[in-house]
Amino acid sequence: MSELLKGKVAIVTGAGRGIGAMIARRFAKESAKVVVNYANSATEASAVVAEIVKAGGEAISVKGDVSKKQDCIAIFDATEKAFGNADILINNAGLILYKPLAAVAEEEYDRLFAVNVKGTFLTCQLAATRLKEKGVIVNFSSSTTTLALPTYATYVATKGAVEQLSHVFAKEMGAKGIRVNVVSPGPVMTDLFTTGKTEEQIKHMASLSAFNRIGEPVDISNVVT
Ligand code: NAP
Repeated sequence: MSELLKGKVAIVTGAGRGIGAMIARRFAKESAKVVVNYANSATEASAVVAEIVKAGGEAISVKGDVSKKQDCIAIFDATEKAFGNADILINNAGLILYKPLAAVAEEEYDRLFAVNVKGTFLTCQLAATRLKEKGVIVNFSSSTTTLALPTYATYVATKGAVEQLSHVFAKEMGAKGIRVNVVSPGPVMTDLFTTGKTEEQIKHMASLSAFNRIGEPVDISNVVT
C-alpha cells in the first residue's frame, strides 16, 4: 500500500463496477478510507469492499440512488458514521442512452438527467457543507460532448450540464479551499461503452485513439488519483 491518500476519506458514487470500482480500489491502495456507493450492484460493491479489506484497507458499501436527495444524505451520513467527514467526492455514477433525439421518450430523458445531472448536483450541494476544508470533488463528463455523435444528444446534454455547474461550483467553493474538477474520459472498456456496440464499432473507436486502443478503467483511476 502507498500513502498518497493516507488519512483521507473518499466517497465514490457508482463504485460497484466499471470506472468507479477501479477508482475505489486505487484510492484504497493509496490508504484512503473508501465509501463504495452503489444503486443496484450490491454483490459487486460488497466484492470491492471485501477485496479492499483483504488487502488491509478500509471500506464500506452504501446503497443509494444519487438521483434521490434522501439517498444522497444517507450516503454522507453513513460515511460520517464510519469514517468522519469526507475529504473527497467522486461523482462517477452515470447512465448513457443511445437514441436519436427524435426517438427519446420523456421518461428516458428525465432518468438520464436525474442520475447524471441531478445526482451530481445533489452530492455537490451536500459536499458544500459536509466535505472537509481543502477537499476535492471530481465530476464526470465525457469526451463525447465535443464529438456531435448521432444518438448521443441526451447523454451529451447531461454531461454539458455537469461541466457548466462544475465551473461555477469551483468558484463558489474556492474560499473553502475545495477543488472542483471535471474529468472527460474518452471511450473506456466498461458496460456503459460496450453495451449495444459491435466488434467493428469498438475497433473503429479504438482506431481514433493515439494508442489505437479503448481506454481501461485504470487509465481513469490514474487521472483521478
Ligand atoms: P458503468 O460501467 O455502466 O457503471 C455505471 C455506474 O454508475 C455503476 O456503478 C452504477 O451502479 C452507477 N449508477 C448508475 N445509476 C446510478 C444511480 N442512480 N445511483 C448510484 N449509482 C448509479 O459505467 P462507467 O463506464 O464506469 O461510467 C462511469 C462514469 O464515467 C459515468 O459518469 C460515465 O458517463 C463516464 N464516462 C464513461 C465513459 C466510457 O466510455 N465508459 C466515457 C466517458 C465518460 P449500479 O450498477 O449499482 O446501478
